[in-house]
Amino acid sequence: MSLEENVRKVKENIAAAAREAGRDPSEITLVAATKVQTDETIRAAIAAGITVCGENRVQEMTAHLETNTYDGAALHFIGHLQTNKVNKVVGRVDLIESVGSEHLLTAIDKEAAKLGLVQDILLEVNVGGEESKSGVAPEELEALARKAVELPHVRLRGLMAIPPVAGEDGNRRFFREMYQLFVDIRQKMADNKSDIDCLSMGMSGDYENAVREGATLVRVGTALFGPRPPMHPKAD
Ligand SMILES: *Cc1c(COP(=O)(O)O)cnc(C)c1O
Repeated sequence: MSLEENVRKVKENIAAAAREAGRDPSEITLVAATKVQTDETIRAAIAAGITVCGENRVQEMTAHLETNTYDGAALHFIGHLQTNKVNKVVGRVDLIESVGSEHLLTAIDKEAAKLGLVQDILLEVNVGGEESKSGVAPEELEALARKAVELPHVRLRGLMAIPPVAGEDGNRRFFREMYQLFVDIRQKMADNKSDIDCLSMGMSGDYENAVREGATLVRVGTALFGPRPPMHPKAD
């Protein structure tokens, strides 16, 4: 199948899952996970109707930004971000989805202050409690969210998760748990300057279930671009 057909198919699947759950399909945004893709492929994806690109690796993203590859689309950072690289990401992306520690949060705030801007962020939750994954533990989420809304140069927009991969509906309970955390945090932070409207969860293998459980952003790579060569999960 061509990239164009894949984009159309994934969007159709998202819309069908949304309707099935009684949701308006326009509530959900497809984020194309563009890691390892070339400038040409990313441009083709945007021409085929992709409106948001999600990047994992600072170095790749920087190269694509230099060639204006993302023109016509918004840009999210979705990968593991080291504090010594925040200066290459803050102010260059519309949303940093993967903020999982106070250390990183304060580094982003500091860099955004230097640039005189407010950086939109999501807090990444380690919903499966996996040692190998980054993200804040669900029981520590509220404290981190309270910290985020105190910082003047970040705006908390919601939550992100990469739940454990499990077969046949096996991770659907994690999506449900994330939705609950999302509703809860939105309510608890209602008095603050936060503007919590994003729940980012679901990838190629499970985005339809994520939509059924309330995702507003799904991050899809393989189902759009085909299989990638293997990589280290935390490489950037
Ligand atoms: C690569 C990646 C995705 C997309 O994964 P696929 O299984 O290829 O759809 C989503 N989220 C993050 C954080 C990723 O790194």
